[in-house]
Amino acid sequence: MATDYYAVLGVRRDASQDEIKKAFRRLARELHPDVNPDPKTQERFKEINAAYEVLSDPNKRQVYDLGGDPLSATGAGGAGGFGQGAGFGFSDIMDAFFGAAGGQRGPRSRTRRGQDAMIRIDIDLEEAAFGTTKDIQVDTAVRCNTCNGEGAAPGTSAQTCDMCRGRGEISQVTRSFLGQVMTSRPCPQCQGFGTVVPTPCPECAGDGRVRARRTLTVKIPAGVDTGTRIQLAGEGEIGPGGGQAGDLYVEISENPHQIFQRRGDDLHCTVTLPMTAASLGTKVPLETLDGMAEIDIRPGTQSGQSIPLHGRGITHLRGGGRGDLIVHVEVLTPGKLDPEQEELMRRLAKLRGEERPSGQFAPGQQGLFSRLKDAFNGR
Ligand SMILES: [Zn+2]
Ligand SMILES: [Zn+2]
Repeated sequence: MATDYYAVLGVRRDASQDEIKKAFRRLARELHPDVNPDPKTQERFKEINAAYEVLSDPNKRQVYDLGGDPLSATGAGGAGGFGQGAGFGFSDIMDAFFGAAGGQRGPRSRTRRGQDAMIRIDIDLEEAAFGTTKDIQVDTAVRCNTCNGEGAAPGTSAQTCDMCRGRGEISQVTRSFLGQVMTSRPCPQCQGFGTVVPTPCPECAGDGRVRARRTLTVKIPAGVDTGTRIQLAGEGEIGPGGGQAGDLYVEISENPHQIFQRRGDDLHCTVTLPMTAASLGTKVPLETLDGMAEIDIRPGTQSGQSIPLHGRGITHLRGGGRGDLIVHVEVLTPGKLDPEQEELMRRLAKLRGEERPSGQFAPGQQGLFSRLKDAFNGR
């Protein structure tokens, strides 16, 4: 991401909506083109608008925090390009100058887009590796059938508000630091709708929506991980007044696996080997996500070495192909020797000149770093 929106507004990444709004208002006053027409300032003014558009909208902010670009037309959330955003910014600039409810003209529609909804589901590692489908229960607002979403009781209809004569707003002249300005506020009788509903629908109390439980089948692609969100367009809450439905986001939570630990699209596991097998070399059968595989233990394998099985990990979410399964070897030192085994061990130690070894420092770093190196170099 090229622009750091938090830095543009000068707020911390965990700033509250209130802090973001305050920072934006302060900057908007300072940098507004009417106050400060210098082209550089105007460029900065556009920047703070873009930053505010993203950070003031919890959905866009989340997309941005996850590394997406919520202002691009194709970005998740799909809220349109910058042109639309600039309009949004404008009414908020009016807010910054005149307090809430400036900028809007005419009655507002009773129809609004519904809210997005989110639901979390648990899946197993195997399901994440190869993809799956899940039935989920969602409990959201749906259109009220009694009033067909319009909010008026059957046989009645909304009527023009007599206080604002259907304009939805009441105008007045106020003084501001720019001089006398005509401002308007929403009509208190109709809340700015321009119409009143004398007899609300008894089923939905005039909201146009009722809650209902539905079952949806969700296709979960291979390669998802904890935190991955799948967007189901139009499956969120229906809007007030029968407005367009929001989107439903399904957030994945992956259950830990008993054997395999996932890091990115690679899987890691540990196998234990007797010292003799590690020294002499052997073949070991191993259960993988694709069934049984055989791993080749070369003679002289050390504890901590790792053996990658290419393409036996998780499917990449984008671009196809799969990660690796990395098998870490742990060599077991034999204990509880019987007299014959002890005799053999002593003989072996003598033959190898290891009867009185001095403690040698191992070269380089041990542990995770060398194991990672092994993984890259193919052990
Ligand atoms: Zn209704
Ligand atoms: Zn009114």
